Amino acid sequence: TEEMMIRSEKMSIAGQLAAGIAHEIRNPLTSIKGFLQLLQAGVNRKDVYYKIMIDEIEKMETITSELLFISKPLTDNKKQESILQMIKDVMELLKPQANLKNILIEIIGDEQFIYCDKSQIKQVLINIIKNAIEAMEEAGKITVILKDMADEIKIDIVDEGPGIDEEVIHKLGEPFFTTKQQGTGLGLMITKQLLERHNAKLEILQNEIKGSTFRIIFPK
Ligand code: ADP
Ligand code: MG
Repeated sequence: TEEMMIRSEKMSIAGQLAAGIAHEIRNPLTSIKGFLQLLQAGVNRKDVYYKIMIDEIEKMETITSELLFISKPLTDNKKQESILQMIKDVMELLKPQANLKNILIEIIGDEQFIYCDKSQIKQVLINIIKNAIEAMEEAGKITVILKDMADEIKIDIVDEGPGIDEEVIHKLGEPFFTTKQQGTGLGLMITKQLLERHNAKLEILQNEIKGSTFRIIFPK
């Protein structure tokens, strides 16, 4: 796969995606086929095999729905939008997942307005805050900080997770790069593409004490 990676650097994004998809779908298929053959042979522990197969199928479902999202031609519907409102909408959506782990999400800073496509920026916030929740153990806090700078608006999403290893930081946002068992590695790629459509940037910073900060910078 090392070799595949080097070769894939020369491919177009579409080619890279296609290779990734093939790989991401083939692995679960191979494993499902293997378990079906075991079941066919009449093994015990059926419950375990069913559970694994369902997990594998769920992963393929997530990947295909994220890919559908990417392939959808995006039309921008940009307006002056309230950042606070978008964050609140997103928090509402992620509340069940955060509550389950006893994670508190706090917003600091004053109301800001940005010229953006609301559904695209909400998707960006969902992807980043969801990652923050997933990175954290039980209990803790995610802080969303809004800052109005002279010529830009910053949104910091600060988590108390384990932070990100030096060696993988440059891989974040590459299609299918994930360190999670059930991850797709598509969230940050989509995030970067959506931010590009807004001439906005994403910076990933290591916190001094614990966790990482995902910083979105919008031009004014
Ligand atoms: P996925 O969430 O499906 O793994 P993403 O593109 O959203 O895909 O994220 C890619 C990888 O970036 C994650 O698997 C994880 O290793 C890393 N990552 C993202 N956000 C954080 C975070 N807040 N803390 C630590 N690692 C993170
Ligand atoms: Mg993610």
